[in-house]
Amino acid sequence: MRDWGEYLKSWLPAGAVQEKVPLRSQTTFRIGGPSRWCATITEADQMVRLIQECRREGVDWFLLGGGSNVLFCDRGFEGVLILNRIETLAETRPGLVTAGAGLPLMNLVRYTTGLSLSGFENLAGIPGSVGARLSGMPEPSAGTSEN
Ligand SMILES: Cc1cc2nc3c(=O)[nH]c(=O)nc-3n(C[C@H](O)[C@H](O)[C@H](O)COP(=O)(O)OP(=O)(O)OC[C@H]3O[C@@H](n4cnc5c(N)ncnc54)[C@H](O)[C@@H]3O)c2cc1C
Repeated sequence: MRDWGEYLKSWLPAGAVQEKVPLRSQTTFRIGGPSRWCATITEADQMVRLIQECRREGVDWFLLGGGSNVLFCDRGFEGVLILNRIETLAETRPGLVTAGAGLPLMNLVRYTTGLSLSGFENLAGIPGSVGARLSGMPEPSAGTSEN
């Protein structure tokens, strides 16, 4: 196989791809060995291409948001750790807010309450990103039981 890390660096923004990144540095548990590659993604089209290319080449990948709900193995991960940092946030029309999957939940709460929009305030204090919270649905616990 081609040098996968060099290939990723050839089309992702400078500094987005790192090698042998300690997984413990990316989780709140502070546990986990090295990830062979780590890609920080800030744009949706980069995310789509990266996952497509990993699938095509048979390279393992793992998507991480804020890292508050994952326990990694001390042996590490022989694949691409994808850090979702797609943090777009905008009121695209009155009353309609569009948020990136990598956006911290607290940013969404602050933004919507600042616009006097209700519905997300129950997420205040919950660690993590928008996308991870949605991917966990429909199993909301205490704070998000109605949203
Ligand atoms: C102290 C604490 C309190 C909490 N309280 C509540 C609560 O009151 N109510 C409630 O409902 N939840 C609660 N949670 C759960 C919380 O919603 C999740 O832990 C949070 O969404 C994880 O976000 P993260 O970005 O840190 O996810 P990560 O830890 O980064 O990832 C968690 C999982 O989601 C996957 N994932 C991450 N991003 C995406 C994405 N964009 N698309 C698809 N899958 C993705 C990951 O692969 C992984 O499997 C709590 C968690 C903690 C640690």
